[in-house]
Amino acid sequence: MKTSVVGYPRIGSHRELKLWTEDYFKGKLSAEELKENSKHLRLTQWRKQQQSGIDFIPSGDFSFYDGVLDTAVLLGCVPARYRDLGLSELDTYFAMAKGYQGAAGDVKALPMRKWFNTNYHYMVPEMADDTRVTLSGTAVFDAFLEARESGILTKPVVIGPFTFLKLARFHGTKRPADFADAFVFAYRALFKRLAALGAQWVQIDEPTLVTDMDADDLALFARLYPAILSEKGTLKVLLQTYFGDVRDVYQPLVALPVDGIGLDFVEGEQSAALVKEWGFPDDKVLFAGVVNGKNIWRCDYGKTLGALAAIRETAAHVVLSTSCSLLHVPYTVAAETGLEEAVKRRFAFAEEKLTELTELAGFADNTKATVPAMENKSDRSGGQGGDPTVRNRVNSLQPSDYIRLPRRSQRADIQHRKLGLPPLPTTTIGSFPQTPQVRENRMLFRSGKITKAQYDDALKAMIAQCVQMQETLGLDVLVHGEFERTDMVAYFGENLSGFLMTKQAWVQSYGTRCVKPPIIFGDIRRTAPITVAVSKYAQSLTQKPMKGMLTGPITILNWSFPREDISHREMATQLALAIRDEVLDLEKAGLPIIQIDEAALREKLPLRKADWHSHYLDWAIPVFRLTHSGVKPETQIHTHMCYSEFQDILADIDAMDADVISFEASRSSLTILDAIQASGFETAVGPGLYDIHSPRVPPQAEIEASIRSVLQVVPVSKLWINPDCGLKTRGNAETFASLQNLVTAAKAIRKEHYGFTD
Ligand code: GLN
Ligand code: ZN
Repeated sequence: MKTSVVGYPRIGSHRELKLWTEDYFKGKLSAEELKENSKHLRLTQWRKQQQSGIDFIPSGDFSFYDGVLDTAVLLGCVPARYRDLGLSELDTYFAMAKGYQGAAGDVKALPMRKWFNTNYHYMVPEMADDTRVTLSGTAVFDAFLEARESGILTKPVVIGPFTFLKLARFHGTKRPADFADAFVFAYRALFKRLAALGAQWVQIDEPTLVTDMDADDLALFARLYPAILSEKGTLKVLLQTYFGDVRDVYQPLVALPVDGIGLDFVEGEQSAALVKEWGFPDDKVLFAGVVNGKNIWRCDYGKTLGALAAIRETAAHVVLSTSCSLLHVPYTVAAETGLEEAVKRRFAFAEEKLTELTELAGFADNTKATVPAMENKSDRSGGQGGDPTVRNRVNSLQPSDYIRLPRRSQRADIQHRKLGLPPLPTTTIGSFPQTPQVRENRMLFRSGKITKAQYDDALKAMIAQCVQMQETLGLDVLVHGEFERTDMVAYFGENLSGFLMTKQAWVQSYGTRCVKPPIIFGDIRRTAPITVAVSKYAQSLTQKPMKGMLTGPITILNWSFPREDISHREMATQLALAIRDEVLDLEKAGLPIIQIDEAALREKLPLRKADWHSHYLDWAIPVFRLTHSGVKPETQIHTHMCYSEFQDILADIDAMDADVISFEASRSSLTILDAIQASGFETAVGPGLYDIHSPRVPPQAEIEASIRSVLQVVPVSKLWINPDCGLKTRGNAETFASLQNLVTAAKAIRKEHYGFTD
């Protein structure tokens, strides 16, 4: 049995590519050096896969920034404003990726969006009426040749036309179907060229096939396929899907004149059933994605071989594959020198998954061999016992635990009387600038150069300064600044039991940005208060209400590597109970307002709309309520989301039963507010009134104008005034100036409309 890898990580096992690219941006590395270095990186990775015995090794999966952007360049879809800068090919590419401001001009980056249900982000291609789709780029050919020169015959990988057209944004009057013929020609040319260069297989990624397909989608798919295959000659085409099952197109898909079809048997709930029910043609190879490309636990060989055997009852030709690109997992467990061997044995990152593939292939070929049982479980079932207190607590939850009383409308009056806030109260989202002193203090402590007491003292000084600054600005609800956190999820991972933190387990989030998700390793419990001391200290410095700041259970779960032996719902419930303990302690410590951030709630919505509620919202929303249902009526609960695309789940957001929600709105031009008003949304809202992602200081008049337009749709009693996200990436000077304008704008309107002065 042969083995295939859908895609490999590309940032380098020590994030080399990130460092080189950023050095190139700073002018510290030349374009030639950057290209030479990355060539070496690619070669190392191909060799690694070759030595592991992988048969189908991908090429073209490398990228300086993002694979969708690479495909846009390959197909000549470079918007004129970037071409007109007259930069080198590489710099034109980076201009699309991250914008350009310099001698040649001033253009913004292409927009960025979440890649299906992952934490990876792609650049959204832009199609205008005059976009001329034609095979233009050479990267995929160059990479194929590069590998071949080193004696490695690879399988070039390109994103397919259907997925590309579905992800692109159309600026003119033309729709995806208007580009279908041009795409057919371009992909035919691509296939011809690859065949001429000696490629035997090409992998065309079409993950959009696992999403809901309506009649238009099916029609577009039918226009593209089989047309693009008609001149492929001897080149074999693998149509690769991932992140789900292809239930809406299974039959047309297997009827196509392709040579291989890649299906995901890990996330594809119905993949096995589809194969069994509709059969799989004998003239095609089924690339069976049975090794999880997204999670980091060892593969359960027994179970996987069982699944494989079932697939082989129907499909005559099967290749063992990863379920998706390994882009979503870190490089190697070997780099985690801080973890015990017994713990490390349970994990498989990208490199270890290569071994799993070849070992599984061996067992599949030799059914007589004894398959070893895998130590692939979390702490609980791994023999070290779980945490019975946590389990009992989860099991004894009652429906009433998920409901906060009295109802929100009654709480509003009580809170209003207690907090004594002016109309249009001003606040921030939590973090203040992470200045060089903040980072230095942390570094000194981590390297043992200062004691915990010294670290805490420095932290207190920063909090005091931050509170002072907010008093000077005249903000109404203050925060402590979050100087103790590097990351809103890692901070809780470090402080809750049940998590493992890694050293080198980086995963690309977008471009040069990487994240290191904590691993949920056992039952989760709060062993001691986490944020109470800093919040209480901050409150002691001011008469104004201080807001306690927490990350919500759904966001912590979604930005961690989850366990595989219990459900997401159960993990989220454990997290919610831990956060609930913290909420109640904050309340006891005198914090009148507590914010529970759910920055990542929307991003894990299932890919299929039919699954939204049954697979996710039906438990995620009540689980969030569990964090705050125990507080007193006068305690005000806030939540925050980093986006405003929640029109389609407004009722669910309202059902989180927070008293106030702040969200990003400045960039999406406040359109969400009409929907909020129309839906009878009950939660008070703080639509972000300026964009913290840019250093620009918004003038007071501009913020005033925004407040006025928001007041057209949101009643004054339900409106909060705040920026659109945390301020930690900003500098102190611009933050002060921006907040000053924000507060002055709010005060001006208060006075003018409501005769309110302080
Ligand atoms: N409270 C967090 C902060 O201000 C929220 C961050 C986020 O939403 N991404 O940094
Ligand atoms: Zn945010």
